[in-house]
Amino acid sequence: MKAWIVNAQKPIEEKPLEFVENYPVPEPREKEIRVRVTHCGICRTDLHIAEGDIPLSKKPVIPGHEIVGFVDKLGENAKRFKIGDRVGISWLNSTCGKCKYCQRGDENYCPDIKRTGYDVDGGFAEYVLVHEDYAFDLRNVSLPSEELAPIMCPGITGHYAFRISGIRKGERLGMLGFGPTAYYILRVAKSMNIEVYISTRSEEHKRTAMKYGADWVGNIAHEDFPNKVDAFIFFPTAGKLVERALANTLPSATLVLGAVTMSPIIIENYTANLWGRTIKTIYQVRRDYGREFIEIADRLKLGIEKEIVKFSEIPEAMLRLKKGEINGMVQVIEIGKI
Ligand SMILES: [Zn+2]
Ligand SMILES: [Zn+2]
Repeated sequence: MKAWIVNAQKPIEEKPLEFVENYPVPEPREKEIRVRVTHCGICRTDLHIAEGDIPLSKKPVIPGHEIVGFVDKLGENAKRFKIGDRVGISWLNSTCGKCKYCQRGDENYCPDIKRTGYDVDGGFAEYVLVHEDYAFDLRNVSLPSEELAPIMCPGITGHYAFRISGIRKGERLGMLGFGPTAYYILRVAKSMNIEVYISTRSEEHKRTAMKYGADWVGNIAHEDFPNKVDAFIFFPTAGKLVERALANTLPSATLVLGAVTMSPIIIENYTANLWGRTIKTIYQVRRDYGREFIEIADRLKLGIEKEIVKFSEIPEAMLRLKKGEINGMVQVIEIGKI
């Protein structure tokens, strides 16, 4: 099969992704299914994997974890799907199913978690394997596959942040940073009559946030929100802005941090800015949040402004992602349709 692999991590300008014409087609075993990939979103995590910001877990690896496609072959004990069924695959490729976290429904904390496009090969290829229980069932979903691909990562991650923020209908939500994850949160929040304030440095992101219904846009590094918020979702890695975010929350608020790394967080005024608040972080992905969000996205007919990328042009697309020059909020690779 045709595939893009990462063997040696290096800056994207030096082409860490290598094209392979005849990569072995994977064979599904036991309860695995083989999926013929039709669409795969490109994520900033793929850029980090290619460039070496995070070490490789296997070598070579096929990146890509925002996958939509059709079941193409079943392992001998796979029974959940039939050949030709449409499924989705996210970052969560499998967990052990036995540890205390898996047993109590907190599978994102499983120490044996396997991640798509990192611990196992992902979707920058014609075929990919997944355990049938970890594929999302898209048989009764009406959204087109190019919309479902980005839902597999920024969509589900946004829903995770939104859920653990505890925000309710009619309340006020603040966000810092406006990428695709924040976009999905904004769309869902506006459907629930939540007032949304967005802080971003980017003029283009300010315009997009206004277009999709943000009630206020600005930059809390320099100014306060018009009101203190009930929940705050924070995406950047700039720890120095955490106290600014907290200063714009009510004492009952939850602050959700979405980043994987963060510069030092210093809270100078505990009583004014931290007392009463709860701080949570997003950790990996969970299937229950994924299933919930796919249903919400389908009900709201959630689309996103996107750039469609040809399979042969992934390296150029990733360079545009690095430079912040993509045409739309996300990039989706079109790999082929049945
Ligand atoms: Zn991702
Ligand atoms: Zn486990």
